[in-house]
Amino acid sequence: MMSDTRECIIGLEVHAQLMTRSKIFCGCEVASDAEPNTLTCPVCLGLPGALPVLNRRAVELTARLGLALGCRVNTRSVMARKHYAYPDLPKGYQITQYAQPLCEGGGLTITTSTGERRIGIARIHIEDDAGKSVHGENGSLIDLNRCGVPLAEIVTEPALRHPAEARAWLRELHLLLVRLGICDGNMELGSLRCDVNVSLRLRGESTLGPKTEIKNLNSFRNVERALEREIARQEGILKSGGCVVSETLLWDAAAGEVLPLRSKEGSHDYRYFPEPDLPPIVVEEMLLQRLVKEMPELPAACRNRLRSEYDLDKQAARLIADDAGLTVYFETLCAAGVEPTRALRWLRGEILHRLGGCEITTFGVSPTALAELLELEATERITTTSAVRILDWMLTEGGCAGDGLRALDLESIAAGAHLDELVQRTLADHPHKVERYRSGERRLFGFFMGCVMTASSGRANPTELRRLLAIHLD
Ligand code: ADP
Ligand code: MG
Ligand code: ZN
Repeated sequence: MMSDTRECIIGLEVHAQLMTRSKIFCGCEVASDAEPNTLTCPVCLGLPGALPVLNRRAVELTARLGLALGCRVNTRSVMARKHYAYPDLPKGYQITQYAQPLCEGGGLTITTSTGERRIGIARIHIEDDAGKSVHGENGSLIDLNRCGVPLAEIVTEPALRHPAEARAWLRELHLLLVRLGICDGNMELGSLRCDVNVSLRLRGESTLGPKTEIKNLNSFRNVERALEREIARQEGILKSGGCVVSETLLWDAAAGEVLPLRSKEGSHDYRYFPEPDLPPIVVEEMLLQRLVKEMPELPAACRNRLRSEYDLDKQAARLIADDAGLTVYFETLCAAGVEPTRALRWLRGEILHRLGGCEITTFGVSPTALAELLELEATERITTTSAVRILDWMLTEGGCAGDGLRALDLESIAAGAHLDELVQRTLADHPHKVERYRSGERRLFGFFMGCVMTASSGRANPTELRRLLAIHLD
């Protein structure tokens, strides 16, 4: 896609809806499924004389995020008015932070094809959301339920170099937000939205070129696609000798195109000034200490720990660590004596397959119950085929592995007369194949293995079966 002479520079602005019960400056409930315009009051409707009161929880959640990302959490920060006129903004201004945001600095590391890269964060501030315009057949309607919903805006440095990097970074941030209970991460419902900024420049140049901004992308895939399209568009302009104009764009996902929205405002257009109705936000040392103490293990640390404690490879560590429920399940299996490789094989295969995308916490067999089953498999009392059948029995009947073993009569048939008899009968049933095997067609061994396995309903102990077949065939 990109020519060798130019490189692209990407910076993200991510809006994360904070998981508070009430709005940021009033007591109205936050809910996405309520009837339009039922969750409002004079404060969030911006009626004259109504005064905002800051939601403490919104500050705590944003400070928690800042600490997790290694930001400096400012002990004193200031809310500011940002003015613009829009039908779904009844106050006529947004209350956000400008010169003194809550968090600054920090970063988040992603793994790329060329190794690990830490992408710096410029700032994280808190602000209120606007309402929603709903465009329908009978014109446009406005729902103000979302007015005053608390948001954290996370702004990266212009440090991303590729659409795939931007996507990976947003994924990593999403994971962190959800793990820390800061945001529910539902991009379809708009709980997490991303604006992407992108510019091109000649390689080796140190100044940044003019950028465009694409607003409100609502999926990882759209972030990557919109960036790819926009980079191609800018390249086309530059190649034909033109100049990229700084502007704000919209992504039309259906058409796969970027469309102009408006030319870029300068900050003077917003007429920022400190919010006179709210005092500065003071974050006390005590609060920061408590937040640090309450911090759970972060996804990156969990991946590293799983790799060193259980000797998992990178991919497996990511699969397990990036799902908090799966991490607990896996570690409980291992603590109950299941070998990590066996635990991983089962989780990755039979278990995830049966979950079909649901959370492991909804799975009908507990890790300790599964550990008993896997112990039977490990000691070869049952074959893997039988273990799978018992697992399904446990899922429908709710009993333990031992009960399933008895109910299905699946104790593995090891040495002894019975297995020997099955082998002999199978060979007698296929005299031609036996002849072909003896005259050199060695791959038929697998065919005989399969026949006896089927005849034993999957109970034959494979090691024993291989030994007996070899004796009778050779
Ligand atoms: P604005 O005032 O236009 O919103 P900011 O300086 O606040 O610009 O930056 C907004 C986002 O755009 C940040 O994520 C930043 O990293 C990114 N950004 C800034 N300049 C550029 C550029 N020239 N190319 C790409 N991204 C940029
Ligand atoms: Mg911006
Ligand atoms: Zn309200």
